[in-house]
Amino acid sequence: MNDNIIFIVYSQTMNEADFRRLQQVLSDPKKIVITTHRNPDGDAYGSSLGLYLFLKKSGHQVTVVSPNDCPEFLKWLPGEDQIVLFEPAPDKGKEILGEADIVFTLDFNAFHRLGEVMEVAMKEISPVFVMIDHHQQPDDFADFQYVDATMSSTSEMVYQFIDKMGQLDLIDQDIASCLYAGILTDTGSFRFPATTSHTHRVVADLLEKGANNSSIYNKIHDVNTYNRMQLLGRALDNMVVLERFHTAYITLSQSELNRYNFQRGDTEGFVNYALSLKNVMFAAIFIEDKKQKIIKISFRSVGEFSVNEFSRNHFGGGGHVNAAGGKSDLSLSETVKKFVEILPSLTNELSLS
Ligand code: 5GP
Ligand code: MN
Repeated sequence: MNDNIIFIVYSQTMNEADFRRLQQVLSDPKKIVITTHRNPDGDAYGSSLGLYLFLKKSGHQVTVVSPNDCPEFLKWLPGEDQIVLFEPAPDKGKEILGEADIVFTLDFNAFHRLGEVMEVAMKEISPVFVMIDHHQQPDDFADFQYVDATMSSTSEMVYQFIDKMGQLDLIDQDIASCLYAGILTDTGSFRFPATTSHTHRVVADLLEKGANNSSIYNKIHDVNTYNRMQLLGRALDNMVVLERFHTAYITLSQSELNRYNFQRGDTEGFVNYALSLKNVMFAAIFIEDKKQKIIKISFRSVGEFSVNEFSRNHFGGGGHVNAAGGKSDLSLSETVKKFVEILPSLTNELSLS
């Protein structure tokens, strides 16, 4: 009956009463852990560190615990040097998680995105879980679930969260820089469709609070290495276009990655080159990871074709309508074969309107 309906609404996202309850929970100093997904990107670290600096300033004892390290181009983020990495020292990570009153989960909505090692540890603890996230279809683990798939980024949501807590005045230059970096990266420099007038209003305020747009852009984007440029060349050379399905895909094998001394984050954005082709509405990149024995996949689309659905249905992943991740346990060539063989069943969805 009605009770169920209320529960369903509550399980979607927090309402004003929930924010007031959480405000109450945070009204005296707590031990807080902030976690984010494995292979953290700009939004994962930007939102986590923005929230970290804010909660610390509010008097809490706060630690950011990330499953593994970030790419070099995010190392400058204020507070990055204080992040505890779980995988290199799981016992230390477990201890910190075990002592937390509150665990914030940022920029992911399912424990498996923490990777196998940290996922197990998270399932063993029972703090108050607070989810802040902008992906579709969250798993049901959070006590407070602030989710909004229309938001450009989790960083935009952290700004909104701080606003709901009535403490925008606590945002200083460091917090503003973290949140700006997260929004910048997750919106593809303000060009993806989820970038709204609200996003720009938030960004305007972050600039006023001291974020330096030009310097942050340079720190994130103008740090290419020669090897990365060569790897991009290889990726573009490997690109295959399937005109009939308005689809293009890229492959990179482990030996190709090794040849160009692949560093974490080097393939960031490669898939967008495939998507930028005229008449291409669906793009994928398949990257072999011999260590984890998987093929890591990124899917991108323009328009209504949902790569979130596609990845959920075929490659055990998900994300957003126009950007999703997935993985495969098959070999690189078998994974590509599987991908190509699915396309004919989607001819209608993949036609240009
Ligand atoms: P990427 O291709 O850059 O790894 O991921 C694209 C988007 O999908 C990001 O917002 C990322 O957080 C999300 N994503 C990647 N892998 C997964 C997954 O396995 N499940 C879900 N729900 N989202 C994912
Ligand atoms: Mn994000």
